[in-house]
Amino acid sequence: MADFITRFAPSPTGPLHLGHAFSAILAHDMARADGGKFLLRMEDTDLQRSKPEWDAQIIEDLSWLGLTWDGPILRQSQQLFSYDPYLEQLAKLDLLYPCSCSRADIRAALAAPQEGQEHEVYPGTCKHRPMTTREPGDALRLHLDRALGLLKNQLPRFQETGEKFFGHHQIDPNRIQAEIGDVVISRKGEDIVAYFLASAIDDAAQSITDVVRGEDLFDFTPIQVTLLTLLNLPIPNYHHHRLVRDESGKRLAKRDDARAIAKYRAEGATPADIRKMVGL
Ligand code: GLU
Repeated sequence: MADFITRFAPSPTGPLHLGHAFSAILAHDMARADGGKFLLRMEDTDLQRSKPEWDAQIIEDLSWLGLTWDGPILRQSQQLFSYDPYLEQLAKLDLLYPCSCSRADIRAALAAPQEGQEHEVYPGTCKHRPMTTREPGDALRLHLDRALGLLKNQLPRFQETGEKFFGHHQIDPNRIQAEIGDVVISRKGEDIVAYFLASAIDDAAQSITDVVRGEDLFDFTPIQVTLLTLLNLPIPNYHHHRLVRDESGKRLAKRDDARAIAKYRAEGATPADIRKMVGL
């Protein structure tokens, strides 16, 4: 059996808060308990919102928490070219189309979905457009019905090891079309591959055997598993963990500065206090 290899993959667009700390500690501890590996990957393909200061702060906070990672940190912004062959493969399969819908819409789709944020299913305005009509500034979207059509005889599956969704899951084409739809795969201009594809490709590139992350991303897993299947890349196991909530039971917002680890540190908290706060 392959060694357990997991990762923590923050987007350096804000401080590390309690929710991230929980995710990172859990993944780290699972890897260490198993004699496996824990990797750190900066998902910084959003070049405008990602900042070197946040990148540095995240590393400092993780080190302060006592976490160690194996090998160098992978920064997606430093290897944007590595996604090109996969984009080409999807284009060759005729699964991409250019989209000129609003930048705000596309920008929102570039980042990972955020806790508490509704995912908007793209209405398909540009779906009829062939790739030859691609203009500078157009995004590329996945033609999901065509993609699922190609896979109809081998619907992708994945294994979930988290408590809430434990078990085998088979992709339900109707459900992902209705709930997720034609996600943004890449944006021209900055030539940036979007979260869903970049993250899934790097899980394969880094030989991740087990993706440990918050349960807010569970509903999007079928899209990543679909992309991996189309690209003939290995499908990891997924472990979606509970989310850290505030006193009123609300999920922490992605950049909830009030819960920033840096703030707790400044107030004199210890790494053990943080573990306790997140229920570990
Ligand atoms: N970069 C994503 C985020 O910060 C996490 C992606 C993942 O763990 O798959 O929300």
